[in-house]
Amino acid sequence: MSANLTPRAKFATTLLRTAAALSRATGRGDGSVIGGRVGLIVEPRLLELLAEGRHVVLISGTNGKTTTTRFTTAALEAIGKVATNSFGANMPTGHTTALAKAPKAEYAALECDEHYLGQLLDAANPKVVALLNLSRDQLDRAMEVTALAAKWRQTLQASGAQSTIVANADDPLIVWAASVCPRVVWVAAGQSWTADSAICPNCGAHLDRFGEFWRCTNCGLNRPSPQWSVAHQGEAVVGPDGRRYDLNLQLPGRVNRANAATALAVASLFGVDPAQAAPRLSEVASVAGRYAKVERDGRHLRLLLAKNPAGWLESFDMIDPVPPVVLSLNAREVDGFDTSWIYDVDFTSLAGRKVVVTGDRRTDLAVRLEVDGVDFLVVDDIRAAIAAVPPGPVEVVANYTAFQDIRAEFNRVN
Ligand SMILES: [Zn+2]
Repeated sequence: MSANLTPRAKFATTLLRTAAALSRATGRGDGSVIGGRVGLIVEPRLLELLAEGRHVVLISGTNGKTTTTRFTTAALEAIGKVATNSFGANMPTGHTTALAKAPKAEYAALECDEHYLGQLLDAANPKVVALLNLSRDQLDRAMEVTALAAKWRQTLQASGAQSTIVANADDPLIVWAASVCPRVVWVAAGQSWTADSAICPNCGAHLDRFGEFWRCTNCGLNRPSPQWSVAHQGEAVVGPDGRRYDLNLQLPGRVNRANAATALAVASLFGVDPAQAAPRLSEVASVAGRYAKVERDGRHLRLLLAKNPAGWLESFDMIDPVPPVVLSLNAREVDGFDTSWIYDVDFTSLAGRKVVVTGDRRTDLAVRLEVDGVDFLVVDDIRAAIAAVPPGPVEVVANYTAFQDIRAEFNRVN
């Protein structure tokens, strides 16, 4: 922990907290990024110094990292205080702030942007690294995803692999990246999006799939047998010894049960009994606004964030089959200006239900739905969307800035 900080690091930490507090006070977000930036200017090794002596887990991947970090934090809190970047500031500035704000926390659960994993491995010397999945982001092409997996593989090998890796056995890119490490705990976390892993990342040959199993027809890279999995029936996780841990999650969908399995696998490496950890996961009701339930005029909205093709597909698996669905799409800078990726998503599962379309790029979405034969109504904004559906439950799926707009409409609900 930070008891042995140098005077310079202590000064940097004080400045960081002040900058973050000022930023919050002036309504510019939670101040994590600016605080971290100030701290790292004063002491470039601040992240390393603040991480020293703590038990750290890094969590990375394209989708599910914020939720898995939240679950892991809930599980680790069974045994002690946990520093975490719970609001998704997942670059080194955010990590530095998370650690500075929790000087007494013995544990740290840090969500890590995929492109910063190497830097964090060096700076935070993690005990455990959880690797969830890799798929194309709205800005990327599939080749860039493979290049990222190659970078991870190189980084993990170079780090001397002192960490234990918890990795998704169902994602060939993750398996390839993690298999250079001597200690890997495999989780059957699933892969709803297989378009980016039709070919072997190791040799480029075709991957054969039989049910859950996959195997390269050329080099033999294949699905390792998982120690942790999501039970096929009921809501539960099955551990390495075959024991079943019941989940009673408030967060919806198979994907979140898989995130819970990863969190339990991570927590058990820190010595937390999964039977003790599992009930703690059910207390998580929302994650930085994701899955939050809000009410207006008798409409009970559940807010789902879906940033990329895999995320949209996963959200369709999470929503209840009956209620109306509101889809909101923007294409501002962080979303990517090009919305052509929506053609990679299959919308046909929405056919036959009431669908309302909004957001800056609602007409793009409308054309896409037309192509898939889904009936829809186009409206100007979330208020009009609410007015267009009857009272009762409503599922809302939105991409990044569209989601933040809706969250703002409901006073930045968490
Ligand atoms: Zn191969």
